[in-house]
Amino acid sequence: MIVLKFGGTSVGSVENFYKVASIVNNTKGRKIIVLSAMSGVTNTLQKIANFLYLNKKKEARLEINTLNDKYNYVIQNLFINDVNKKAGENIIIEHNDLLHTFLTSNFSNDIEKEILVQGEMITTKLFQLLLEEFGQKSSLISAIDFMKIDNLGEPQLDYIENELSKIINVNNNIDTFITQGFVCKNDKNRIDNLKRGGSDYTASLIGSALQVEQIQIWTDIDGMHNNDPRFVDQTFSIEEISFDEAAELAYFGAKILHPQSIIPAKEKNIPVLVKNTFKPEARGTLIHDKAKIKRITAVAAKDNITAIKIKSYRMLMAYGFLKKVFEVFEQNETSIDMITTSEVAISLTIDDTKKLDKIVQELQGFGNIAVDSDLSIICIAGDLAQNKKGVTSEIFNCLRDIPIRMISYGGSNYNLSFLVKTTDKITVLNLLNKGLFSIFKKNEIAIEV
Ligand code: ASP
Ligand code: MG
Repeated sequence: MIVLKFGGTSVGSVENFYKVASIVNNTKGRKIIVLSAMSGVTNTLQKIANFLYLNKKKEARLEINTLNDKYNYVIQNLFINDVNKKAGENIIIEHNDLLHTFLTSNFSNDIEKEILVQGEMITTKLFQLLLEEFGQKSSLISAIDFMKIDNLGEPQLDYIENELSKIINVNNNIDTFITQGFVCKNDKNRIDNLKRGGSDYTASLIGSALQVEQIQIWTDIDGMHNNDPRFVDQTFSIEEISFDEAAELAYFGAKILHPQSIIPAKEKNIPVLVKNTFKPEARGTLIHDKAKIKRITAVAAKDNITAIKIKSYRMLMAYGFLKKVFEVFEQNETSIDMITTSEVAISLTIDDTKKLDKIVQELQGFGNIAVDSDLSIICIAGDLAQNKKGVTSEIFNCLRDIPIRMISYGGSNYNLSFLVKTTDKITVLNLLNKGLFSIFKKNEIAIEV
């Protein structure tokens, strides 16, 4: 059995729906298809929920109508067979009616969550109908019946495994299952979600629950790249990468995979193949534990970073100081990404600044506080173990003319990160590209993006 997950752009238009159907048709054996909402739809649903929260019913209604028009256009062009077209229309009418009922109900968190999952509910229904039109039998299984999180928002692995296995075993005559990414229920058995971008996580949780042979993440780029193609002209897709490196990169801005989604696959050692829906022949990137680790595998950047420096002579020779500082962040539910220390100062970074004012106020008692914003973390993944000679000088050689605010090295064997002004980010990514990847050093033509 394998899992195939298709993201928002992969199901973003009629044409793309066909591409997905053809990939599914060409995939032999038993499989579970995990689908996202059409691109942009979850954003629109969030807008609708925000309008309802503000009691702006007129604005919410307008958004609902626009969404309905979009779906009607899709239906008219997706199905050729009149019976299926009619069935598609009914799906849309039902969902439109449901969204309208929210206009008259009292807004609550539960309602917001119910609204947010509607994009996935629609794509999975339409896709099943499309497979039917192509003569392929499939079973649509509702993520609400097996995907569950606890009161802390963590997936309940045993529950998922038990419930999903039951569903799959009962349907032993079915080869193709379709389900919603992102959607789950919570500890109160209400509809919930795995947070934005969570469909990858669904795929990985399903893959690990059923111990599948492979989890395929189909997206709009041919795999993970050695650098960010939005800012660097010549990049290439990485053939294979280890789970550890992929996890570092996913967190530090390689937007292809939801950072948490690596964990379940890694724990059960299930290979993850990242593929391009629009170029299925491209080999993509295989994430697995046998990947040969290269000296330098890839570079990624994460923006909107704020650095906080706490300078205090009380830190000198004292113990327990760091604990007190970290407690301030813990109490303000703000996670710290990078840390560096000297004998009299600590610098650390955060990416969530909702509680920044309060944090700074509470830190004042510990010493002088300085806050710097508009920074970016640059992460280099590769075989960067401390016993490797020369690799750090190679990296910093590229950065001779760039002011560096913080450096983190030695936390893992696969990562070196540093902090620069966001205004320097593009220059840094390009310098590292030219300096670290031999293919560009020799001025060869890069594999196309
Ligand atoms: N539709 C959800 C989102 O846009 C989940 C996903 O696509 O992964 O965040
Ligand atoms: Mg995604």
